[in-house]
Amino acid sequence: MWQIIYHPATGNFEKISADLSPLNGSFIRIRPDYIGVCGSDKSILAGKRKVYDGLILGHEITGIISEGKGLDLAGDHLSEGDRVVVFPNYYCGECEDCRHGHYNTCRNKISIGVTAQGALQEFFDLNPKFAIRVDEQIDPELAPLIEPMAVAVHAIMKFSDRHKRMIVIGGGSVGISSYVTAKCLGFDDVRIVEKVGIKREELKKHVGDVYQSIDDALGVSTGPINILDTVGSMETINDIEKLSGVIASGSEAVVSGLESQEYSLNQAYFVRREITFRGSIIYTPHDFIIARDVVGREADLLKKTLTLADIHTMIEGLKDRILNSTDIKLILKI
Ligand SMILES: [Zn+2]
Ligand SMILES: [Zn+2]
Repeated sequence: MWQIIYHPATGNFEKISADLSPLNGSFIRIRPDYIGVCGSDKSILAGKRKVYDGLILGHEITGIISEGKGLDLAGDHLSEGDRVVVFPNYYCGECEDCRHGHYNTCRNKISIGVTAQGALQEFFDLNPKFAIRVDEQIDPELAPLIEPMAVAVHAIMKFSDRHKRMIVIGGGSVGISSYVTAKCLGFDDVRIVEKVGIKREELKKHVGDVYQSIDDALGVSTGPINILDTVGSMETINDIEKLSGVIASGSEAVVSGLESQEYSLNQAYFVRREITFRGSIIYTPHDFIIARDVVGREADLLKKTLTLADIHTMIEGLKDRILNSTDIKLILKI
């Protein structure tokens, strides 16, 4: 079978052939056909996130089961011919976090496509409990979006009030997933802030409610607000801090972005103004089930945000294509 491996030292991808080992009896084997590219792939290719030589990327995965059967993460039966999406953060089920249902913060987590081999290959084997079945109603090209959508679901469920204005910082794929998810889950006033002009114009083609700055999005004071920071940089955190004198006490901020490893918070913000500040990382199996539903319901809008590219014709220029892409969401056809 073929595999596409990545060499971080040179930035090159290489297509190799490898032996197909017999399938572990309790696993399923899938043939991946669409894989989404996201910010974490970009940070690997930009060298911001160190990975081992020979890593196979690909963690937003859908494919058809070619062999094996079992129960998926929702408890549904899987068998040959079913389409699934992979839950690519394998949790251990035994650590302190897992035992309390916090599978997303598992201390022994294996992240495929990042810390273990991903799915840019002809076949991919996995434990069926890390898959979710998607039926024919979901367009296969959209199915990889269930993973980033689950990131958004997890973050959005942390807000206590759906009727506060929500400001989503960042118009990347997580930003737009968050916008769509929040609307779908009944948040009535959602606004995206994207500072970069070209990205903002691209977004405006698909959704209204796109603003240049938090101040613009805030408009006339509406009482406490929800802020979702999908960037998580020093700059975006500082922007939120600056709002502390303006927005009403009782506002809530959730940070799902991971751009800066460290930032400081001014006590005037979250102590004196009593503004809640929470972190949010990936998702639990339950979030995946909700995300599958959101992708099904918002298919028309989401479809417009996709750019499809055939992986086999672009292996040589893959790094540049991914790093320099201005697509809202790039999907590789395998
Ligand atoms: Zn991703
Ligand atoms: Zn665990």
